[in-house]
Amino acid sequence: MTKSPTPIRACGNGCGQLELFTPPAEAAPAAATEFDFDRHDVVVVGDSGGKDSGVLVHEVCTQADKAGALNKVRVLHCDLGRTPNGHLIEWPGALEVARDHAALYGVPFAVRRSQRWPSLWDRIMDHGNWPGYFARFCTSDTKTAVGRAFVDELGAELRLGRPIRAGYAVGMRAEESRARAAKPVIERHRMTAKTLRHVTTWLPIHHLKTDEVWKVHRDHGIPCHPAYEWVGRLSCRACPLAKREDLIESARINRELFDEYAGAEEHMGKPFKKNLTLRHIIELARS
Ligand code: SF4
Repeated sequence: MTKSPTPIRACGNGCGQLELFTPPAEAAPAAATEFDFDRHDVVVVGDSGGKDSGVLVHEVCTQADKAGALNKVRVLHCDLGRTPNGHLIEWPGALEVARDHAALYGVPFAVRRSQRWPSLWDRIMDHGNWPGYFARFCTSDTKTAVGRAFVDELGAELRLGRPIRAGYAVGMRAEESRARAAKPVIERHRMTAKTLRHVTTWLPIHHLKTDEVWKVHRDHGIPCHPAYEWVGRLSCRACPLAKREDLIESARINRELFDEYAGAEEHMGKPFKKNLTLRHIIELARS
């Protein structure tokens, strides 16, 4: 595997007697943690341009290379579009970093956008409220649905004469939340549809802690977005799920975008975060 040399920069003690009469419980089958490249036609790696994505591409490509299956890997960046005033929803340069991740391992890179929503902004306005922990329509409609369409596109390209078998690698980590910690490393993706596609979700960096993610970056010269100098998470510049401190920092750097979002907040009459409005974030950023 070839690597480009220069990165840009470098988430009972029961009664024994009882046991004699109790038939041994059948051991539950261990959940698979190894991805089987032979059973899949392609492996799509979702890359937002963030730190976890960089390590995800590294991990998938390293394992694929060992299995002689690097030719099956495709890196996909989902473009979230622009606001009506022309501001990128994502951090500028995120797409380019994702492209550099793919280039580092010499695998094909693709950018796709929702066929239904010109941008995440349009999706939010249609919904009439901001995304939240229990309303992740932003991810499902502008990332997962886009990934599903991309898997179908690859299936058509490969002309298999049967439903494509795709791996779908995601940079989710156990450390991020209790819900994420409970996720199996390998499972059937809900985008699976018997006659259309079989998709396996794979979480290759599920076990990694944040400091280990950065170590992999340093050890392998993985390109990294400069916004990490200010914020802990990438993707959307204004994300209702982001930490308060990250939002204040982002509002300080992305003034015009936050003003536009604040206008939408007033228009919808819904606070950006519970107990935290964009107007207040902007005031804190400018104080
Ligand atoms: S960064 Fe936030 S708003 Fe953007 S897609 Fe992800 S969860 Fe949704």
